[in-house]
Amino acid sequence: MNIKTTLADTISKLGSAEATLEARILLQQVLNVNHAWLIAHADDTLTPEQYAAFDALLQRRLNGEPIAHILGEREFFGLPLKVTADTLIPRPDTETLVEQALQTIPEQAVCQVLDLGTGTGAIALAIAKYRPQATVTAVDASKAALAVATENANNLGLNNVSFQYSDWFSQLQVQRFDMIVSNPPYIAENDPHLSQGDVRFEPKSALTSGADGLDDIRHIVSHAAHYLKPNGWLLLEHGYDQAQAVAELLTQANFTHIGHALDLAGIQRVTFGMVSPMIST
Ligand code: GLN
Repeated sequence: MNIKTTLADTISKLGSAEATLEARILLQQVLNVNHAWLIAHADDTLTPEQYAAFDALLQRRLNGEPIAHILGEREFFGLPLKVTADTLIPRPDTETLVEQALQTIPEQAVCQVLDLGTGTGAIALAIAKYRPQATVTAVDASKAALAVATENANNLGLNNVSFQYSDWFSQLQVQRFDMIVSNPPYIAENDPHLSQGDVRFEPKSALTSGADGLDDIRHIVSHAAHYLKPNGWLLLEHGYDQAQAVAELLTQANFTHIGHALDLAGIQRVTFGMVSPMIST
């Protein structure tokens, strides 16, 4: 089969809105070429070995496996990140959290940032990359995720980020940060979306958090003040309908300057607040 017919055949097999893109991405992966090459060589014939290798990836995709797991990589905030089944797949929504963090930290600021539940390291690495004077500590309760995050930091050559095993704050020494960021699990345990699409292949521990999805956010909000310097910030990603609930939790915990940041769909996806100097001491 040539490249053109392989693509057409695959698009009909995948049958989804993203089929054209996915067919191309899988073929580029197998042939180790870019899109321009594929266009220029549309009439080239695939060798049987190439087609067999391609078909193996296609069968995985038809089985529902996320593209990011098949490629073993996902780009986040311009950084290529290794992704495995031990980590949440970095999502564009989470770039909203990074953008808000970068808006809050002046470009050359020397500061300490804590990322809770770092997964692939996406948030921590993006902040470390774009705020080179910042020192970022990133924790996760999954050792497998920490191994992926460490590899990502090494691949990107970032030295101002360190990774540590900790279930939220549990293993942290007494220390205070200028900012705490987190994309914790926030999906309600019985949410029907959990049986659809990519999330079926992601760790449940990175997705769900109690009956209303807010258990981990409640835990983080109620402990954060002890780890923040006076006027330090807490920034949290949350579900599309949780902005008010998270703002209320921050208010109850005496945070001030509470605000929201919108994702690309215009949804309040991030809620933040400043610790009151009174309670951080
Ligand atoms: N935004 C993700 C989703 O809806 C969930 C990620 C998370 O729980 N932090 O699939």
